[in-house]
Amino acid sequence: GIHRYNSTAAAAEEPITPPVTVPHTQLLINGKFVDAASGRTFQTLDPRTGEVIANVAEGDAEDVNRAVAAARKAFDEGPWPRLPAFERQKILLKCADLVDKHNDEIAALETWDNGKPYEQAAKVEVPMFARLFRYYAGWADKIHGLTVPADGPYHVQTLHEPIGVAGQIIPWNFPLLMFAWKVGPALATGNTIVLKTAEQTPLSALYVARLFHEAGLPEGVLNIISGFGPTAGAALASHMDVDKLAFTGSTETGKIVLELGAKSNLKPVTLELGGKSPFIVCEDADVDQAVELAHFALFFNQGQCCCAGSRTFVHEKVYDEFVEKAKARASRRSVGDPFKAGIEQGPQVDSEQFEKILKYIRSGVECGATLETGGERYGSKGYYVQPTVFSNVKDDMLIAKDEIFGPVQSILKFKDLNEVIKRSNATRYGLAAGVFTQNIDTANTLIRALRVGTVWVNTFDIFDAAIPFGGYKMSGHGREKGIYSLSNYLQVKAVVTPLKNPAWL
Ligand code: NAD
Repeated sequence: GIHRYNSTAAAAEEPITPPVTVPHTQLLINGKFVDAASGRTFQTLDPRTGEVIANVAEGDAEDVNRAVAAARKAFDEGPWPRLPAFERQKILLKCADLVDKHNDEIAALETWDNGKPYEQAAKVEVPMFARLFRYYAGWADKIHGLTVPADGPYHVQTLHEPIGVAGQIIPWNFPLLMFAWKVGPALATGNTIVLKTAEQTPLSALYVARLFHEAGLPEGVLNIISGFGPTAGAALASHMDVDKLAFTGSTETGKIVLELGAKSNLKPVTLELGGKSPFIVCEDADVDQAVELAHFALFFNQGQCCCAGSRTFVHEKVYDEFVEKAKARASRRSVGDPFKAGIEQGPQVDSEQFEKILKYIRSGVECGATLETGGERYGSKGYYVQPTVFSNVKDDMLIAKDEIFGPVQSILKFKDLNEVIKRSNATRYGLAAGVFTQNIDTANTLIRALRVGTVWVNTFDIFDAAIPFGGYKMSGHGREKGIYSLSNYLQVKAVVTPLKNPAWL
């Protein structure tokens, strides 16, 4: 039978009061918190209940103009790009220290606004945020060009210069980490920034940006605009004074911002977009371990990960056992108030995502996939969804093709390696893949054949600061994190001077 959740238990539970108040709701422009020029605000909601957390200043094109002007001035005239690199490094290290010091408040704001488990925010995401700034602080004083050989009597060198004003647009699934992946490399290389947060989750960025100013970041270097995509986001993407754009979000919006960038000033654009990542369980797999890892690969962060292992391919030899155990594991997943200790899954971020996920679940049932567990709302308030597992999923079903972005695992059966390679690659996406096998030849075959930006073998979701991340195909352009992200924020200038009577060439 189908496992049913006790929805009344959750409904009866009163949400825990978040151990934090909201310190900042205004826009951050030129080092100061200010209201939107229009005076308008929008509500940011608690996904546990749908109640209002705070009214937040709603930035639009006029505020983007103000913020870009501040960033432009800070770049063209201010101290930031002109500081000795080790001074920028010291400030970035201090930013990381202040974030560590305020771990509890920052994590609580993140959980309140987004719905993710507090333990995940406090123990994983805030420390990763600080680690990422320390990593890029380490790069700040190690950026330099080359001396280049010439065919004649010339001295040739390259200068690696900051690109200028960076526009950055981030999503709501990892508000802090998306901030870090974008702001870290841009600041280390001496750029100035206008960052637009997602309208669902504006709060944590304002808090950390204030800490960055306490750490000594000069005014105008980091400006934060809260607001909506088609207004504030589009104004930033099409601004003539923005020299570079970095975007994370859906593939549809990625196409829009790329076009806006091209139509305005041809600014270079990096894109981190959607995915439909395969998680491949081979015939030699230890089924218990594979079930646990595949479960994590899909359900982590309420399933709201662009790289979620959302197509679980299982070899026919272990398929039945895998399905039974995957169902049992999902049924055991602890769902509830994300501020409660031991909770694995909180609510989805908002009602739009919640409705969209339930719609995909209905489509899975209608298409004839087998609903093993879950399938409904969890509780009676907020945006909780039961951990859901489908077996007998076929490649042409919507649940196997679209990014669901929710706690819905789709299990598909395969017979041989060539077949699973073909089916894994038969998608417009190419973000990541998981491979689970004890056979090194099988692993190596899959690693090279899969058309994706990351392959995790016998592990998943490892996101160290130095590991590059990005997509093939319609999962995006460019790489973030690691050494690769530095080049997103640098221009290369070739400099040639003649040599008079050189001793050598
Ligand atoms: P989205 O792409 O619309 O939003 C991401 C960011 O882009 C937000 O800051 C948003 O305000 C901004 N934006 C939206 N329209 C814009 C425009 N016209 N011009 C400039 N900026 C704009 O994503 P969403 O609506 O929040 O979520 C929709 C789906 O996208 C999700 O269900 C999920 O499938 C996917 N998604 C993917 C990621 C990821 O990390 N790859 C993150 C969030 C959502």
